[in-house]
Amino acid sequence: MTPYDAPLKQDRPTQDALVDGFGRTVSYLRVSVTDRCDLRCVYCMAEHMVFLPKAEILTLEELERIASAFVGLGTRKLRITGGEPLMRKGLMDLLGKLSRHLDSGALEEITLTTNGTRLTEFAGRLAEVGVRRINVSLDTLKPDLFRKLTRGGDVAKVLAGIAAAQAAGLRVKINAVALKDDNAAEIPDLIRWAHGQGCDMTLIETMPMGEIEADRTDQYLSLTRLRAELESFWTLTDLSVSTGGPARYVEVAETGGKLGFITPLSHNFCEACNRVRLTCTGTLHTCLGQEDASDLRAVIRAGASDAQLVDAIRLAVDAKPKGHDFRIARASAPAVARHMSTTGG
Ligand code: SAM
Ligand code: SF4
Repeated sequence: MTPYDAPLKQDRPTQDALVDGFGRTVSYLRVSVTDRCDLRCVYCMAEHMVFLPKAEILTLEELERIASAFVGLGTRKLRITGGEPLMRKGLMDLLGKLSRHLDSGALEEITLTTNGTRLTEFAGRLAEVGVRRINVSLDTLKPDLFRKLTRGGDVAKVLAGIAAAQAAGLRVKINAVALKDDNAAEIPDLIRWAHGQGCDMTLIETMPMGEIEADRTDQYLSLTRLRAELESFWTLTDLSVSTGGPARYVEVAETGGKLGFITPLSHNFCEACNRVRLTCTGTLHTCLGQEDASDLRAVIRAGASDAQLVDAIRLAVDAKPKGHDFRIARASAPAVARHMSTTGG
């Protein structure tokens, strides 16, 4: 039995909105458009990754079809991610097509998470297709450390990319993974720099996703501890803004900027979760930290109608797990086998 000829659930909401079995409305879709990347961040990928064969990757038309089905079901926010999304050939065409949902008012925004290395080339086009803000991942400003953390990357390219994005009118938020022995001491400087550029900043704890060479207990830095340290010399004021997502924001009085903390390990954030993730192979994950998966590629490649695709999406969302329980213990296996670059961070 394929997911789309399963019996309809009697208690399914009749309205358009996508509501899961715990009553949470799903209004945010993150789409990974490729598993490939020009960097190899130590916490994200193994040094020698085996990438997927092209036939397994959704075509641009398939990506557009599934994303549009979500928009029809009340998705208001779309985030394009990867791998490195700007490595995907034809991405600007896909975004151009999806922007019709911005024009119609069905979508509030299309955003992008990128490592920034190709922004000098694409920032102008992103602005043209209606992207207004992007997240750029940047864990350090130090060229040597950047090269080490990304296994070969050039931080100058990212900095030029951020400048190009701002020149094109895009709002940029900086995301940094907090890593115990690598960038921990630099984080206050990174925050000061980001805020000085007019960028908000978010700190992320390392999550146990996918096998990598390093032991994650060596990388993990609790943001609760980091926050306490920042508070020893800065005034942090909690902000009530919530994106429905995992970040908790504060304002830093001394820099005048906003700082977010994403703490999947030290705090769980599942009760307000409004998001699901589509991988570049068409697998829908309704929880970042669980192995649940629905194969939407199989559904559409078997010739499903739009109504059958909608049914498959509803079934998957209905079964969204209540939450995850990430733990990092020495020598333990990752909580989920897939890498963040497959799921899309
Ligand atoms: N390549 C793009 C980038 O780096 O922004 C988009 C994809 S990347 C997988 C999305 C985000 O996930 C990045 O901010 C990255 O730092 C974060 N990330 C990757 N692996 C992670 C892990 N194991 N724990 C926490 N964050 C991770
Ligand atoms: Fe590539 Fe982003 Fe993963 Fe770094 S975090 S390896 S840039 S996908």
